[in-house]
Amino acid sequence: MVKRTGLPRVLIALAGRLRMRRHGVIYAGCGVVLAMLALCGYALYQSREDARARALDSSRDVATITERDIARNFELYALSLEAVADGLARPGVLDSPRLRREILFDRAATGQYVGAMVVIDAQGNVVMNSESDVPHGGNLADRPYFRIHRDNAQLGLDVSAPYDSRLRPGSRSVALSRRLSRLDGSFAGIVALGVDQEYFASLFADLRIGQHGSVSIIRTDGTIIVRRPDDREVTGRNIGGTAFFQQLVAQDEGSFVADSPLDGVERLYSFRRIPQLPLIVLVAESTADIYASWWRRALTIGSLMLIFGIGVVVLSAWLGAELRRRQRVERELERLAGTDGLTGLHNRRALCETLDREWLRARRTGSVLSLLFVDIDHFKAYNDTYGHQAGDAALTAVASCIRTVIQRPGDCVGRYGGEEFIVVLPDTDAAGATVVAENMRAAIGGLGIAHRGCEFGRVTVSIGATTWRPDLETDVSVVIRAADEALYSAKAGGRNRVAQVGMG
Ligand code: GH3
Ligand code: MG
Ligand code: MG
Repeated sequence: MVKRTGLPRVLIALAGRLRMRRHGVIYAGCGVVLAMLALCGYALYQSREDARARALDSSRDVATITERDIARNFELYALSLEAVADGLARPGVLDSPRLRREILFDRAATGQYVGAMVVIDAQGNVVMNSESDVPHGGNLADRPYFRIHRDNAQLGLDVSAPYDSRLRPGSRSVALSRRLSRLDGSFAGIVALGVDQEYFASLFADLRIGQHGSVSIIRTDGTIIVRRPDDREVTGRNIGGTAFFQQLVAQDEGSFVADSPLDGVERLYSFRRIPQLPLIVLVAESTADIYASWWRRALTIGSLMLIFGIGVVVLSAWLGAELRRRQRVERELERLAGTDGLTGLHNRRALCETLDREWLRARRTGSVLSLLFVDIDHFKAYNDTYGHQAGDAALTAVASCIRTVIQRPGDCVGRYGGEEFIVVLPDTDAAGATVVAENMRAAIGGLGIAHRGCEFGRVTVSIGATTWRPDLETDVSVVIRAADEALYSAKAGGRNRVAQVGMG
């Protein structure tokens, strides 16, 4: 046999000590694996949630910073528009180039991305232009930013969809505009400031939003004013009718996961409405980017867990098989330790254990117990005549004959020593014991094993029978002695017979 050392021996010893069965070991192994998987799964789930929370925080921050920047700049532009509107109320402004210049330039917003400021009358004619002393003379009545104020007196500040600037060819702008009203409240035109689309693009230039992220400024009617990644096809498109957009206008700020209606990429979106302006800032990191490093970690840990799990299951299966082998060997050893090598019957030790057990049981239940002491007649002479080997064969034949005679499940026979056998008959009274003993005697005689040294010419047995109802005072050894006495009287009475000793 292979001698095992180290961990396997310790595990087998531990499993044996815990009295684990084969399947118990396998179940325990699977339980350990499941517990580890559950723990690991929980940790991975948590780290996935952390990755999501980090991405959400950073996109919220970007949205907030962008929103503040736009709000601050547009507030300044709005003040300029207001100043122009106030200045226009002064008499003679339209006729004096000096006054016009004062109104339009003294407080007009200036800056890298600020274009022309124009005043348009109620018919759409450009009557003042900050980039030219002489009004341009164009008519902008068809521009949506003109029409929207004409048709809606309450609008206040408006930011238009991007358009190709007529005043500055080649650049795209959005118009920040407000309505001019007469004293009676009727429409007097608008004052508008062109803001180059590049202004918004410059806000996004250094943002870190991952490889597949996107940042957009969207009008509250669904028109995309600017978007990074930069795509001229997308700018100006209206997504107002999409379910995606409905989520944006439902609240002033929020976040959600959705597939982009523009490129189909799944992203985690954070949005903020810019106060006082019809604009929404939308910042998104793609879920693939957010979870990329998490996936790498999950795959590494998952593979290691899989290898570990398979290892544990294989180890517990092996442990279970080894345990079963050992238990089988132990059972076999136990059986051999209680078996007589020659006859295959219980040996004296196992027989005495059975007798003790049945004696106690009979005492507990108040039932009777019979004992037969069987001894082969003149067996010494048989050995002397036929030799030891023949003697052994005769002994074996007698043993199996006894075994066939006793048939009740509780009955038990064992070799007490030499050519003597004891039969334990639980719940059997004296009459029953005599019947069994007589059958046994007759059956053994009926084997017809020749025995010249015996007066009957064949192998016979004498049987001493005794029947007891156990009580607290009587010891089991007394019963054996009584059966032995009965045997002695059977021998004395001429052998090949049954003698009975009454109940003690
Ligand atoms: P009795 O009729 O009075 O019982 O006479 P006996 O010769 O049978 O009795 P005794 O006790 O004098 O002899 C028992 C003999 O049984 C002694 C021995 O030769 C024989 N014997 C005991 N054990 C074995 C055994 O395992 N194999 C064989 N072949 N013979 C055995
Ligand atoms: Mg004897
Ligand atoms: Mg004998």
